[in-house]
Amino acid sequence: MKALRVIAPHQIEIKEVPDLVADIGQLLVDVERVGICGTDVELYAGEMAYYRSSRTTYPVQLGHEWVGTVVSVGSGVSSGWIGKRVTGDTMLGCGKCERCLTGKTYLCDSRIEIGITDGWGGALASQILIPEKFAFEVPDSISIAAAAMIEPAGNSLRSVEATGLVENQKLLILGAGTIGLLAAQFALAKKLEVHIAGNRATARELAKELGVHHIYSIDEVKSNSKRQFDAVIDASNDDSMPNLAIDRVYPGGRVVLIGLSETPSLIDTRVPVLQDLTIVGILSASPGLQGAINYFASGAVNPELLISEVISLEDVADRLEGNRGENAKPGPKIHVDPRL
Ligand SMILES: [Zn+2]
Ligand SMILES: [Zn+2]
Repeated sequence: MKALRVIAPHQIEIKEVPDLVADIGQLLVDVERVGICGTDVELYAGEMAYYRSSRTTYPVQLGHEWVGTVVSVGSGVSSGWIGKRVTGDTMLGCGKCERCLTGKTYLCDSRIEIGITDGWGGALASQILIPEKFAFEVPDSISIAAAAMIEPAGNSLRSVEATGLVENQKLLILGAGTIGLLAAQFALAKKLEVHIAGNRATARELAKELGVHHIYSIDEVKSNSKRQFDAVIDASNDDSMPNLAIDRVYPGGRVVLIGLSETPSLIDTRVPVLQDLTIVGILSASPGLQGAINYFASGAVNPELLISEVISLEDVADRLEGNRGENAKPGPKIHVDPRL
């Protein structure tokens, strides 16, 4: 099969590799669509923290936001899976430790992250393997494009749910990339009053199209120093945003952190003490995947406007360098069809 691998910083190789075979408990999937995200850019550029801790070494086969059709199953797996469209969790816990046994497989110390850490090739290939217990069936009512958005959507849904807000409460989202815009869509579906701030004018246009109630530039949020939100989600990669978040939320409110900046973001911890704030970190989509599937399947959230273009494996390196396609639409998410 064909696979794309990062072999050194800024160096990609696309080549024929041995075909995969489903082992005990696994599904073999023909990949139909893959999203690329900030993590892939970091892995490509050699900047991902996992390289420094040797959790990831070259070559890395990218791709952790994906959908495809099951073509065969390993022993112990029902053949009923064959022909079904599936996506999968990225975080494969060991299944034996205390965290795995209490359902927090995504926090397992010895977890594999598909397409990110060593040892499990990602979906930028003709085929991918997924253990049955980490596979999710995708209902027919979800398009292929939307299905490849389930992984980022799981992260966004968890972020919105972590705010604890109910109808009509005010949520500010900092960052209008894929995670921020998807969070805005879930927040709208939950009937929150949704405010979003982003630097890119095209992203703000898109937020408007999605029906977000109030849209700002980051500078506008910085210059209005009032506390005026019940909760704030930082979905940016800007190290100054967590500080801004704790300064804009009402006393007693919540700040949810899902963005990761390249450099540490420092906050004055006296602020959350004196304002009685709750700060929550969100790692991984895992507990949010089924919820995201349900929102997409019911039509309550449709993420397709967030997709800018669908490219072949050959064009991936160019986009990871930060280029955009000639016919790219304004959405922040680039999709890959490995069959092209
Ligand atoms: Zn991702
Ligand atoms: Zn474990």
